Amino acid sequence: MHDDKNTETYRAIARKLAEDFAPRAAEWDQARTYCWPNVADLTAAGLMGMTIPKRYGGGGASYFDACVVIEEIARACTLSARIVVEANMGGIAAIMAYGSEDQKAFAAELVLTGDKPAICITEPEAGSAATEMRTTARRDGNRYILNGVKHWITGGGVSKLHVIFARVENEDGQFEGIGAFIVHYDPAAGVTPAGFSIAGRQRTLGLCGMPEAELRFDNLLVEDRFALVPPSGFKRGFADLMTAYNSQRVGAGTVALGVAAGALAHATRYMKERQQFGRPIAEFQGLQWMLADMDIGVHASRLMLHEAARALGPLGFPDMVMAARAKTFATETAIKVVSDALQMFGARGYGDQEPLERMYRDVRMFTIGGGTAQILKTLVAGARLGIKTPQTRDGYLRLAEKG
Ligand SMILES: Cc1cc2nc3c(=O)[nH]c(=O)nc-3n(C[C@H](O)[C@H](O)[C@H](O)COP(=O)(O)OP(=O)(O)OC[C@H]3O[C@@H](n4cnc5c(N)ncnc54)[C@H](O)[C@@H]3O)c2cc1C
Repeated sequence: MHDDKNTETYRAIARKLAEDFAPRAAEWDQARTYCWPNVADLTAAGLMGMTIPKRYGGGGASYFDACVVIEEIARACTLSARIVVEANMGGIAAIMAYGSEDQKAFAAELVLTGDKPAICITEPEAGSAATEMRTTARRDGNRYILNGVKHWITGGGVSKLHVIFARVENEDGQFEGIGAFIVHYDPAAGVTPAGFSIAGRQRTLGLCGMPEAELRFDNLLVEDRFALVPPSGFKRGFADLMTAYNSQRVGAGTVALGVAAGALAHATRYMKERQQFGRPIAEFQGLQWMLADMDIGVHASRLMLHEAARALGPLGFPDMVMAARAKTFATETAIKVVSDALQMFGARGYGDQEPLERMYRDVRMFTIGGGTAQILKTLVAGARLGIKTPQTRDGYLRLAEKG
């Protein structure tokens, strides 16, 4: 059971953990292994499931508090920060919002004992066009039969709790909407559902300690009590589930912010230490202005992310446009900030005696995963224009026909 904690207590806990995590951050990256000892520490500190409501044993903390924690940890270890995001936002948030009492209790117990849930949406033929997913969940009496392939699933192979999105079909094969299904997979505990397999692992540029896996479902049976049905039913299911995902976008943006803030701190230190032309490089105005731009970008990102984390819509999740705006700005800014920080270190930044090269690789993914920057900008533009900007070839024609 979590204790009551306020924001500053959370910040202090996260700062201490970040200090502990920093020395081994490169090790997980180089060995491409999941940071299990850090997960144990995050669990003991009450950060895994800090946003789970207290009545399910969680900390009852806000998304804002989670953002404070995520930023602190991301300054030192991107991998650990990402785990905190998924243990508090995204899949677990959707279950806590829309799940049955049994589903909530089940999911909470897994996360509170150290599980980072996996959210399974993307498929080889359905990336940005997520609604074109082909995985099906066909009704069969009191269960569903799942068939399909998901790829780029973060944590596949280490996660126990899976929230799998699929096209729901009735017993006659008619499409009913996109829904989500909760699947438990834990081979170490002998939980290996037939028809569920980890088919492969993607080799990545950064965040190398986190497995990105391909999952296959071959007649995977899921009892209907594990179907995650938002109050509006399967018809609007995808929209409601994606609303829950706004929390994940704010979390992912905050990891990028933390990496940028960490890189900025390293650059500030090094500018004072490094001497060239007989003086500290901090005395060169060319670098001072770079540093100022980095500082401004980090500060603006933090304001936007905190605004999104605090301004919750009627379903209790960050507003979609605010989340899209903040994630896009923070992630694009972070890539630039980390790149500039590396530049300030010269050759030393390019080598592995400093953490910059790892941070540079880690941060690159955040304009891709969780909705690309282009897709999120499309969403922001649609909000400004007051239309749901269609992306298919005939979409604008249909919009015009409607008047
Ligand atoms: C490290 C990492 C972790 C991930 N984790 C998960 C996970 O846990 N679960 C999960 O389900 N998915 C995950 N993903 C997948 C991620 O959500 C997708 O990569 C993303 O949605 C984009 O899909 P895609 O890669 O197929 O690119 P595509 O959709 O093929 O896009 C290719 C390019 O075209 C652009 N583009 C596409 N459509 C448009 C458009 N309409 N307008 C303008 N530009 C467009 C894109 O922005 C991109 O630049 C992860 C990805 C990465 C890299």
